[in-house]
Amino acid sequence: MTNKPLNVLLLAGGVGGAKMAEGLQSNSNIVLTILGNIGDDDSFHGLWVSPDIDTMIYTLSEEINRKQGWGVREDDYKALSFLSKLGADTWMSLGDKDFGLHIYRTERLRRGDRASDITKDIAKAFGIEARIILPSDDIVQTKVLTDKGWLTFQEYFVKERCDPEVKEIKFEGLEVAKPTYEALDAISTADIILIAPSNPFVSISPILKIPGILEALKETSVKKLAVSPLINGKAVKGPAEKIMTSLGMQADAIGIASFYGDLIDTIIIDNVDSELSPKIRTLGIEVFCTDILMSNSSEKKRLAEEILFLAKNNNLPEGAER
Ligand code: GDP
Ligand code: CA
Repeated sequence: MTNKPLNVLLLAGGVGGAKMAEGLQSNSNIVLTILGNIGDDDSFHGLWVSPDIDTMIYTLSEEINRKQGWGVREDDYKALSFLSKLGADTWMSLGDKDFGLHIYRTERLRRGDRASDITKDIAKAFGIEARIILPSDDIVQTKVLTDKGWLTFQEYFVKERCDPEVKEIKFEGLEVAKPTYEALDAISTADIILIAPSNPFVSISPILKIPGILEALKETSVKKLAVSPLINGKAVKGPAEKIMTSLGMQADAIGIASFYGDLIDTIIIDNVDSELSPKIRTLGIEVFCTDILMSNSSEKKRLAEEILFLAKNNNLPEGAER
């Protein structure tokens, strides 16, 4: 065994993805690259907002509002209060510090800079060591068909609080989107590829669907693992199991494993779901059980260490699986 740090590539959305990234970032034996989700991106008050990428940046720089899991801690909402006074639609919660970042991103986009370069510079300015890369520099936006018609992702997620039933999900702009050089390079040079316990349908799918990304992932022969976002058939937060039910999928770790199918060779599920393991193995996917709820930094770190151990030794460290 060599002591060379392992290149770990994490596919991640917002809150769930950032929790996993936080656990991994404290590990000094790896080089962490995060391939984030741009499907939630949208324009608000003339500014380009990238919610999942920003959640990742705020989390890894400890600027995050821990109570919410998104937004900036100790932020004010003075700009938003004036926008509201002026009659603007202000259901999208954007704090003052947060606005600063959106102004910076928008201005650089206007000057013609690549979204990838802007993200890299923001991460650097926020003191983040991990590399945060984008699947595409083009605009690809998640749209959700509900009984209220087609909604933008933030309309569904924030304005409608995930209430309407989801009938269909599409990613607008895919046809012309190109993968970034950084994403393709990170996939081909990764030693381990991990899919965070992010929402598979609205956080991971928009990454996988960018032309060239899934193909590149399938081409590599390194270990590919996923952590289930569902514990006992329930999402820790957000609409994952609701979406699965309304799209006719089985809303549990088996459904998650079948959704990823042959893209992954291993799934990590919670100890409480251990009885699902035999069924998942019939899909040709290896299963390991441990505690996958990350409520604090030591749980995030412990899960990250167990996954790295598993990726190297094809088994969890003693005591994880109960
Ligand atoms: P979003 O973009 O902010 O919605 O966040 P993600 O898509 O990255 O993550 C949302 C998913 O993370 C939800 O389906 C949750 O069930 C899952 N999640 C959140 N916290 C945890 C956790 O501690 N453990 C696990 N296994 N999943 C989690
Ligand atoms: Ca998201």
